[in-house]
Amino acid sequence: MGWTSEDDAEHEQQVQKEIARRQQRGEPMDLVKAPAGSKKLCKTFWGQAWCRNLEAYQHYEARLPRGRSYLRQGKVYNLEIQAGEISATVAGSRLYETRILIQPLPQDQWQEIVHQSGGQVASMLDLLAGKLGDGLMRVLTDPEHGLFPKPKEIRFDCTCPDYADLCKHSAAVLYGVGVLLDQKPELLFTLRQVDQTELLRRASQEAAADLIGPDSGLEGADLSALFGIDLKS
Ligand SMILES: [Zn+2]
Repeated sequence: MGWTSEDDAEHEQQVQKEIARRQQRGEPMDLVKAPAGSKKLCKTFWGQAWCRNLEAYQHYEARLPRGRSYLRQGKVYNLEIQAGEISATVAGSRLYETRILIQPLPQDQWQEIVHQSGGQVASMLDLLAGKLGDGLMRVLTDPEHGLFPKPKEIRFDCTCPDYADLCKHSAAVLYGVGVLLDQKPELLFTLRQVDQTELLRRASQEAAADLIGPDSGLEGADLSALFGIDLKS
């Protein structure tokens, strides 16, 4: 029972051939580069927070380690994050197409996040670097009310024959998202279908409201022009 290392080697060879074939056809086959061995998988605030959040879900526990080593072994290609969807090609015993569908962040949850962050997000760079006050970062990464998807909001769809809800290919792709967020943290907002600039706008609005107070003598002035910001939305 089970595969021998000879079987593995044969599968590996076939997979490499298939990758070469696809490249010849003009498909990109961009490898997700992840550090091998025991080096930290993610280096930035958002990448690490994403992985920590995944690992908190006991429901996923069994498959995550295999997924992580798949990613470290360089088996995840063409990873893309779009609104509500993550997709990639994963090299298992064949090449599998993996799609992960993520529900949009519920509007009331997002509005609460915007409300709670009011006045604190002065810079998009700091937000994306995770360099805001601890209190605010806790609001954004809260397991219950923050930006990360919960298991009930995630649906896995992989072309492999694995009967499990979360196969090792999908697990590898989930970790790949952490690596990609290291480079492009704004993709977390894209994935959850919310506009991160709403966090900023609110900060500007509140600053403006403070300045305008009843004694400011600015009532009725054209504030958009005054502050160079769009106050309409
Ligand atoms: Zn799979």
